Amino acid sequence: MEENLRRLTDEVGGRVTGSPEMARAVEWGVAAFRAAGVDVHTEKYTLPVTWSEEQTKLTIVEPFGPAHERITDGKIALMVKTTSLQVASEGWGPPTKPGGLVATVVDVGYGSEEDFAKAGSMKGAIVLVHSDIGTSWADLFNEYLRPPGIIERAVKNGAAAILWMGARERRLLYRHTNSLNGEIDKIPQAVVAREDAMRLARTVSAYPGRVRVWLDMPNKIGGPIEQENVVGEIRGYDKPDETVVLGAHLDSWELGTGALDNGCNAALVIEAARAIKATGLVPHRTIRFVLFSGEEQGTIGSYEYVKAHRAELDKMRAMITYDSGIGRVTGYSLGGRRDTEAGLREVLKALESWGANNHTYDASFGTDNFDFLLEGVPTLVANQEEANYLPNYHAASDTLDKVDIRELKLHAALAALTAWGIADRTEPLGKRLSRAELDILVKETGLDQQLKLLGYWDAWQSGARGRKP
Ligand SMILES: [Zn+2]
Repeated sequence: MEENLRRLTDEVGGRVTGSPEMARAVEWGVAAFRAAGVDVHTEKYTLPVTWSEEQTKLTIVEPFGPAHERITDGKIALMVKTTSLQVASEGWGPPTKPGGLVATVVDVGYGSEEDFAKAGSMKGAIVLVHSDIGTSWADLFNEYLRPPGIIERAVKNGAAAILWMGARERRLLYRHTNSLNGEIDKIPQAVVAREDAMRLARTVSAYPGRVRVWLDMPNKIGGPIEQENVVGEIRGYDKPDETVVLGAHLDSWELGTGALDNGCNAALVIEAARAIKATGLVPHRTIRFVLFSGEEQGTIGSYEYVKAHRAELDKMRAMITYDSGIGRVTGYSLGGRRDTEAGLREVLKALESWGANNHTYDASFGTDNFDFLLEGVPTLVANQEEANYLPNYHAASDTLDKVDIRELKLHAALAALTAWGIADRTEPLGKRLSRAELDILVKETGLDQQLKLLGYWDAWQSGARGRKP
């Protein structure tokens, strides 16, 4: 597992869905399953758009940087280096117009309705949005739940672009996307290194209405393109049409090498398959080990997997996924259900002393169980301690040296036992929920609010996403 992970992170590197690196990662996954003696194939789907960042630049040009005229003269080389700020484009964000954009910066604080009203006119301006340092899972969820409303307000007020203050310290850059359906976002956006964004905010406050920046973000857009999920399989001996999925996403952002998110857990899924295969035992039901792509663009790969396998979902007994780095596993999030807990506790009894048998009943968006959950399949998402996940989240520092291999080995054993136990027990872990039951679950867990905030509500209501009404 350690060597597999080294190859994926250090040799393949960051792997954005649709990129050549992603194709190499798929080859890595296929080869690793084969080496483990596990049957493997890939399943294709179409990614609507590809995206890549080129040279993103942000420079203060007024009131104390180089004059605006110098830029329009094409004398960009005259730029004073010290007014250049560290910046990364938002994933799946549109490019700025050729040559970039020179505009006034308007500070909109944390971007609430009130903040926008206070900020005044911002037509053609670049808005700067503040953030706090993320230290908890709740903070991380807010990094996704806050932007849709802010983007809407910025667009409504005629802003030309958005600068997000980084939520990680020490000028660390990271990549976000606020586009959760694989389409290019409405307006150019970039994350500005936290200290640089604070400097910009202070400058705006010292020279209200007079600070102009040059934002050049020549992002490359392409596609559509065919992408793949990698599927390893151990076939059940007497109930082969009943399945348990153990999955993790293989894709990542590319400022770092996607070690915590989510290379370590892609390697874990392969290791769990290898370990089960190596026992020589065969479970009653089929276990599928799936490495999804497109997760970072809005769980597109797992959505496509669910769509392609809709006919089998009545007999899918569980979907298990790991997507939170290497923090100690405390149990599973059961996706708004209590009916699956007793069976799961029994499955994990052998590892009771690990303290990983304490489950929660929450349901949320954010990783590959999402569409399985909305289809009524029992889902289990590993609940993990934060450990070093948040300071390195989607950042240049998400590299192999952050991975605690000992912890990862324990998790591989836990994941293997979970998948094996559910696949091999006499009774199904839980039934597939009906649409009526899901409507109640979505409401009771507050998932309805998330679906509305993130723009999934109409698709859920119509049955385009999730179990048909
Ligand atoms: Zn992830």
